Amino acid sequence: MRHPDDQLAPDPNKKTLVVLGTGWGSVSLLKKLDTENYNVVVVSPRNYFLFTPLLPSCTVGTIEHRSIMEPIRNFLRHKKAAVKYYEAEATKIDYEKRIVYINDDSEIKGDVSATEVPFDMLVIGVGAENATFGIPGVREHGLFLKEVGDAQRIRNRIMDCCETATFKDQSPEEIQRLLHMVVVGGGPTGVEFAGELQDFFNSDLKKWLPEIKDTFKVTLVEALPNVLPMFSKQLIDYTEKTFKEETITIRTKTMVKKVTDKFIEAESVGPDGKKVLEKIPYGLLVWATGNALRPIVSDFIKQIPAQKDSRRGLAVNEYLVVKGCENVWAVGDCAVANYAPTAQVASQEGAWLARMFNQMAKTQEIETELAELSVKQEKAPTKEARDAVFADIKDLQKRLRRVKQIGPFEYTHQGSLAYIGSEKAVADIAWWSGNIASGGTLTYLFWRSAYISMCFSTRNRILVCVDWVKSKIFGRDVSRV
Ligand code: FAD
Ligand code: NAD
Repeated sequence: MRHPDDQLAPDPNKKTLVVLGTGWGSVSLLKKLDTENYNVVVVSPRNYFLFTPLLPSCTVGTIEHRSIMEPIRNFLRHKKAAVKYYEAEATKIDYEKRIVYINDDSEIKGDVSATEVPFDMLVIGVGAENATFGIPGVREHGLFLKEVGDAQRIRNRIMDCCETATFKDQSPEEIQRLLHMVVVGGGPTGVEFAGELQDFFNSDLKKWLPEIKDTFKVTLVEALPNVLPMFSKQLIDYTEKTFKEETITIRTKTMVKKVTDKFIEAESVGPDGKKVLEKIPYGLLVWATGNALRPIVSDFIKQIPAQKDSRRGLAVNEYLVVKGCENVWAVGDCAVANYAPTAQVASQEGAWLARMFNQMAKTQEIETELAELSVKQEKAPTKEARDAVFADIKDLQKRLRRVKQIGPFEYTHQGSLAYIGSEKAVADIAWWSGNIASGGTLTYLFWRSAYISMCFSTRNRILVCVDWVKSKIFGRDVSRV
C-alpha cells in the first residue's frame, strides 16, 4: 500500500524547513513564505491559529471561541507548494543531530505516537507558558487564560460558582466566597478579563439570577503600584477610575504568596508601613501574571553554551537567529529580542523572517546560475562569446547585490490597545514621532474595528460580528456545558 507521506515526499534538492508552533509568529511566517523554495514541515499540538486579542471575550460568551479560531489545514491548503503538518508537541530539539523529537499528545493514538523530524533549517515559535513563580497552589486551584480550553473552563466555572451560590440552604459566608471572582495580575490580560466579567454580570447575570446581584464581586490583585504598567499614566488613571465606577475592586501593591482551594494569601503594606498578610476567600481565581519558558525552550537553552544567561527566552540577534546556533531562528514569545511579548511583535517577526527566507532562496538560485555562467565563460570558444557571457554575469551580480540587501529586523510599534469593560477601551497609539493616548467609548469603537480588521480571515470577521450582534440582542448564554 502506498504510504500517505509519499504524496508529499521531500524534494532532495530543497532544504527542509521545520516550523514549530501555529501561533502569531509561525503563522505570519507561513502566510508570507514562498513554500516552493523549501520542504516545509509544521509541528504544533494546536491544529488552528488562535486570535488571542479576543480570547477574554470568550470567557463570558460575548464571542464564541470557534469564531476566533482558523484551522491550520484550511490555511495551508492554499499555499503554492504542499506543506506537511503534524499535530504533535515537539518534546526536544537535538541541535547536534539536527532532529526534532515529536509526540502525539492527542487522545487517539496510532501504533506510532512518538517520532523524529530531521531539519536543515528550524524556526522555533512555540510561545510561552503561564508564569506562576512557583507560588504554591496556583496550578492546582487557579485558572489561566491563554488557550481556548482555558476560556471554556473559566466560562463554566463562573456559572458553576453562581449556581452553587444559589443552592438551597447555602450560608451567607459561603455565598459571599463563591461569588467573589478574583483576578491576579493587573497586566492587559487581567484587566481585559475583569472588564468582560463585570460586563457579563451587569448585562446578563443580574437579570437571570437577581438573587446574586448584591453579592457578586470582582477583585483585581496586582503586586505593582498600578495596573497596565505599559500604558501612559493618563490611561492608567482612566482605567482605575472606570473600574471604580464599574465597582471592580483594584488591590494594588498586593502580592499573592499562596493559593488554597478556597482562599488566596496576599501580602500588602498596611497604613503604618508594615507588611500585612491576609486571606482573601474566592470562588473563581483567574491567574494572569505573564509568561514563563516552555520546557522545550529551557532544554534547548541548556544545549547551547551561548545561551547560558538566557532567562526569559531564546536570545536572538537582529536577524532573529538564535545566538550560538546556525540555521535556527526564534520568533514571538519564546524569543528575546528586547521587545514586549505581544502578537504585534510576533507577527512582524514572522513576516520579516518569511521575506528573508524568500530572499535566501533567490540568492541561492542566482549563485547557482552564476557558477554555471562562469563555467560557460571559461569554455566559450571566442572572445565575443566570452564577452556576452561576461555581460550576463555582470547583470546577475547586480541582481544578487540587490537581493542580498535585506536589513536586520526592526519592529514598528503601532500602539497598545485594551478593553476595560462597559464599552470603553484605552489606546496608546504611535503617531509620527509621538504618541496619542485616548480612552472611552470612541476608543472602544476603534478597538473593535482594529481587531475586526486584524482577524485572520473574512470568515472570522463575519463570525465575530455576528457574535457581537447576537450577545447584544439575546444576551450572553449562561448555560454550563
Ligand atoms: P503563540 O501565539 O502562543 O503560539 C505558540 C504556538 O506554539 C501554539 O500554536 C502552540 O500550540 C504551539 N506550541 C506550544 N508548545 C509547542 C511544542 N512543544 N511544540 C510545537 N508547538 C508548540 N498581544 C497583542 O499584541 N495584542 C493583544 O491584544 C493581545 N491580547 C492577548 C490576550 C490574551 C488573553 C493573551 C493570552 C495574549 C494576548 N496577547 C496580545 C499576546 C499574544 O497573544 C502573544 O504575544 C502571541 O500569541 C505570541 O505569539 P507566539 O507565536 O510567540 O505564540
Ligand atoms: P503581564 O506580564 O503584562 O502582567 C502580569 C502582571 O502580574 C504584572 O503587572 C505583575 O506585576 C503581576 N504579578 C505577578 N506576580 C504577581 C503576584 N504574585 N501577585 C500579584 N500580582 C502579580 O502579563 P499579561 O497581562 O498576561 O500579558 C502577557 C503579555 O501579553 C504582555 O506582553 C502583554 O502586553 C500581552 N498582552 C497584550 C494585550 C493587549 O495589548 N491588549 C492583552 C493581553 C496580553
